[in-house]
This record gives sequence, C-alpha cells and structure tokens, in this order.
Amino acid sequence: MKKRSRINVGMAVVFQDGGHAVLEDGVIVVEGNEIIHVGKSFDGRVDEVVDMKDRLLTPGFINTHSHLAGSPLDKSFLEDVGKRQFQLSGLADMLPARGAATDRQMMEACVDYSMIELLKTGTTTVMEIGSVGDYVADAVEKAGLRAYIADGYRSGLWYTDDGKSIKYQWDEANGYKGFESALALIERLRGRAGGRIQGFLSPSQIDTCTEDLLRQSKRASDELGVPIALHASQSVFEFDEIVRRHGCTPVEWLDRIGFLGGWNILGHVIMVAGHSWVQFAGDDLKLLADAEASVAHCTWVFARRGLVMESFADYVARGVNMTLGTDTAPQSMIEALRWAAVLGKVTKRQTEAATARDVFDAATIGGAKMLHRDDLGRIAVGCKADMLCWDLGSLFMVPLRDPVKNLVYSAEAEDLADVMIDGRWVVKGGEVLTGDERAVAARLQLEGERMWPQLYKGDWAQRSADELSPQTYPRFRE
Ligand SMILES: [Zn+2]
Repeated sequence: MKKRSRINVGMAVVFQDGGHAVLEDGVIVVEGNEIIHVGKSFDGRVDEVVDMKDRLLTPGFINTHSHLAGSPLDKSFLEDVGKRQFQLSGLADMLPARGAATDRQMMEACVDYSMIELLKTGTTTVMEIGSVGDYVADAVEKAGLRAYIADGYRSGLWYTDDGKSIKYQWDEANGYKGFESALALIERLRGRAGGRIQGFLSPSQIDTCTEDLLRQSKRASDELGVPIALHASQSVFEFDEIVRRHGCTPVEWLDRIGFLGGWNILGHVIMVAGHSWVQFAGDDLKLLADAEASVAHCTWVFARRGLVMESFADYVARGVNMTLGTDTAPQSMIEALRWAAVLGKVTKRQTEAATARDVFDAATIGGAKMLHRDDLGRIAVGCKADMLCWDLGSLFMVPLRDPVKNLVYSAEAEDLADVMIDGRWVVKGGEVLTGDERAVAARLQLEGERMWPQLYKGDWAQRSADELSPQTYPRFRE
C-alpha cells in the first residue's frame, strides 16, 4: 500500500473552479506521488502527519525553456555585451565562441550544477533543449526533478566571418540525422522514472531548419503526442531573414506551413509584427491565439541585452497561451516571474497589466496546458504531488497579506524551504537532499576556468575572453 501523508498547511495556493485559490489553515493529503485530498480537514487514514503550519504551499513551477548543459557558463561572460550591428543579439558573435569552447566535461558540470540551481529556485518540471539528453536524463532521475528532454537538431547554422553580416551554412543531411537521433532519444526515455522523465522534439531555430524538416518534425510531434519546441521570432536578424526568404513574418510563415498548434511551443516570440524594432504590419498574436500555440517567455535572456517583448500583457489579453522559462543564467523561476511582471508593466506603461496572477498562471497552468497535462501546475485531487513550500515567516515573505504578490515581487531563493516532486521530498529546510551543492559549484568554477582561455577558438576574429567580454573593472596593480 502506498504511503499516505497528511500535510497540515498554514497557507496554500490550491486549484478550485478552474483557477488558483488561496486556502488558509488547510490540509493536503498525498498518497504515493499523487494528491488525494485538498480541504480544511481530513479524517481518513494516514501513515504520517507533516506539520507545515509555518509554510505557504504552491504548485511547482513549470520551466518551459532551458539549455542546462550550457547556460551556467553564460554567467560572467554574456552580460553587458551585444553589438549594434546584430541588433544587440548575442546569437551571432558571442554564443558561437562559447559553444565551440564548451567540451563534454564542461557540459556535464553544467547539467549537474543546473539540477541544484533549478531545485533551489522553484522549478519542478523543466523542458531541456540540448545535445546530451541521456546524461540530462540520468542527472534528472537522480535529482528527482520532472523533465521533458530534447536533443536539438537543425539543417544549418548562422555565423559571421566579418563581425558585420550574418550568413548561413547548410547541411541538410545533418538535420535529418539529428531528427532521427532525437526520435531515438524519445523512445529511450519512454516510461523512464515512472513517466517522470519524457522526451520531446526540438528543431532548433526557424531560420536554421528547412521547411521539410519542420513539416516532418511537426508530423512526428502530432503522431507521437510529444511537445515540439522551436526558437522563433527571437532576433531582428532572424525576423529580417524570414521576411527576405518568404515575404512574411516568422509566425505567418509557421502558420502557412502548418507548424502552429497541437503540441507546439515557440521559444521567445519577441520580434513579432507590430514590435517597434521590426516595424512590420500584421497580427501575429491572432495567428498564435487561433492556433492555440504556446510561447516560452524568457524575459531575462533578452532584457539583459536591452530587448523586450511588447508586451506580455497584450499576448495574455489576446489569448496566447503564455508559459515561462529561464533560458540563460541564472536559471531561476523566481526571477523569471518577477521580470515578466515588471517588464510587462514597463512595456505596457500600465501598473495594472502583467499582474502577479498573470505570471503565476503562466508559470503553472500555462506550462501544464502546453504539455497537455491537467495533473501538473496545480494543487488539486488527482494531480501529481509537485509542491513548493515557502517559509511564511522568513525575512522577505513578511508582512504577508497576499501570498502570490509576495512571491512575485519579494521572494528570494532562500525563502523556498522545501520542495516535493512526484511525492518525494527533494529539498528540506533549504538543503537539496539529492545532490551536493558545494561540490557542483566548485566543479563549475573549475570548468569555467578551463573554458575561458578556449573562447578565442570558436570566435571568427579569435578574440580572447576579455576582448569579447571586457572585465567590469581592471585588476588592481601592485
Ligand atoms: Zn533557447
């Protein structure tokens, strides 16, 4: 018989009548990996009683866009740099250097570090797009996270060889080969960790995949019933390239080739018709909403370069299914919620837009909707027991009148005390139980020190780390 635990909670964000509601002084009963009761009391048999009277319980956050095997090494390098000629995007002249300098050992250190970082900052379900899916699956299984994992593939890549223009290099056969490997990974992950780990598809970017590869990928996603993620409308140069190739916006082109809808999630969708940086007429948001496509909104990776969606509040109002992801470093869903709310207000020039409710919904039920999972992103009977337990009395959580506002606008990672995923405690009292925080941090530092001197190798002009990304201050001289 499965173990049954009654958790007595001080406060919880639970699910009722199709939306989140706040329960005070209640009980949540977990049996095995499932929530079997939510209410003010419970008289049935239980095997243990857990006292969480000093905690706020919320659903775990669904992080719909990450690159766990590389993002931690973005830190201390990709900030404060972005060339005007690439409209501030780092995709053409910073990421190729980082990518080429990153070897397998560095990637594994990044994955192991990511497990701890995600668990301590609110992610309970993560969608990973990378190239070492099997290693990520092993790490996720050990860490206790819930994950959807894809090995990305593409028919070509962009590059610059002069620091001014962006060019494309094509290898269509390689795209199909990557597609086959991605399908094989999905098969290998089927049923892994009792279904806690699954695969999905990710043709990498709209401008690096052929139409045929996208059409075949979409068909496979529909047939297999797995999500399909694609980076689209993520930079001005990509938007312009699609206009040049097809005479329409990236979203219009995806609509035209039947790519939108189904299990579809688009990474970023910042540069759409009507955005002030592209000055192009059209109504991409209507196409997205009509097709029931989802957007993985990752505010920070763009905002730190000066780029922003215009605006999150409009996407929500127009009925686009919004989800949140972390993408780069730091991989914190706490930060992802806050930035989405604050920049949503800034771009809309309206305080009452992009509310705590909008971003909390995006991080929970928006992600679950995209995954076709009505058992995730909510605390309700029949749902998976994926829960975050925040300290009601901690420094940044008081004074507490509205728990969701406090989470979105004030919470820090240290306020997240305990995490349960799939009915198992993986963080207790701020300590990750399934990994060694100091050890993974020390290893990432060593791998960073090994990578920085290698950066010149993948750079078109062979620039050093300090040339690509100048130090903030010079070193002190004796
Ligand atoms: Zn991405």
